[in-house]
Amino acid sequence: MRIPFLNIHAAYVELQPQINAAFERVAQSGSYVLGSEVEAFEAEFADYCGASHAVGVASGLDALHLSMRALGIGPGDEVIVPSNAYIATWLSITRAGARPVPVEPNAATYNIDVDLIEAAITSRTKAIVALHLYGQPADLDPILGIAKRHGLYVVEDAAQAHGATYRERRIGAHGHVVAWSFYPSKNLGAMGDAGAVTTDDPTLAEKIRILRNYGSKVRYLNEVCGFNSRLDPMQAAILRAKLHKLNEWNARRAAHASTYLRLLQGENQFVLPRVLECCAPAWHIFAVRHHKRDELRSALLEHGIETLIHYPVPPHRQDAYRGEWEAGSFPIASMLADEVLSLPIGPHMTNDAVETVCSVLKSVTKSLHSPVLEK
Ligand SMILES: *Cc1c(COP(=O)(O)O)cnc(C)c1O
Repeated sequence: MRIPFLNIHAAYVELQPQINAAFERVAQSGSYVLGSEVEAFEAEFADYCGASHAVGVASGLDALHLSMRALGIGPGDEVIVPSNAYIATWLSITRAGARPVPVEPNAATYNIDVDLIEAAITSRTKAIVALHLYGQPADLDPILGIAKRHGLYVVEDAAQAHGATYRERRIGAHGHVVAWSFYPSKNLGAMGDAGAVTTDDPTLAEKIRILRNYGSKVRYLNEVCGFNSRLDPMQAAILRAKLHKLNEWNARRAAHASTYLRLLQGENQFVLPRVLECCAPAWHIFAVRHHKRDELRSALLEHGIETLIHYPVPPHRQDAYRGEWEAGSFPIASMLADEVLSLPIGPHMTNDAVETVCSVLKSVTKSLHSPVLEK
């Protein structure tokens, strides 16, 4: 028996006629950069997210980076970011020339601890990144409140949150600008690299449209030193086909998440995800915590169960950022990096497979004799 972490190929198989038709449509159109397919996806995705504008770009990192640029963030500026973020979240700030200022997450939700944000604000702070880690929305209302009081922007990293809702409204335009990745393994995934920015602000949308295309609105006239970061029309066509399935696929993820929560509750060997009352997560990742995470991971693998770690090394401990923070900084991010384990979850996983993971997990944790974790 083998239970893969995620079966992305199954998404293609389920939508094969539609995706093949999308390929064919783009191939026959003779239009291979930007054009109507990209525009159609932008309109449909903006509509799905409840945002006024969507701009397709080449990746999630670019979506974040161009958002920073469009907000005028650059050298000398600071941007508040969770200490347990994915590296791309930090890199986007660094790429814009600004400095990431890490704030620890809440140890129960894994999203930025809103009570620690104000202490990190200085006269150089320009923005707060609200990262919706694992697909669970960050607590946006207090973050937006702090931003408003201090005159800061809120950039959402929604790369894991396609279809998630915060106070009954989909992620897409709560903050000033929202960055998306359509990396193949995301809840809405392309068949290559792709990304987008959504916003209700027409000026920001226009700036990002210009930045993604050499800093040009009118061909051969360059207003700013821009980039080449356009959403590929082939990817846009595939994403249009997959967008129709997003709600159904997210519902299957949510069903698996409730099975996990139901069958694993009361197992005090590990800590289960905590969901805020006001949120419906996209369940991009279902992470549990265990003191002997690496042993647990190997034991599961011996039973054919593939797991992943999101993420094993926090950004401040990466060589890329070496020398900027003292050893022992950001203990919660470090603790999470040592203890989190992402269980298999995805729209093409069967209910039986989820139940198997639970029973194997229960039996192998018994043999690990881990101390009981605090909840
Ligand atoms: C995937 C991801 C990104 C980056 O997306 P790419 O498309 O791979 O550049 C950024 N932030 C988070 C949280 C992600 O999960």
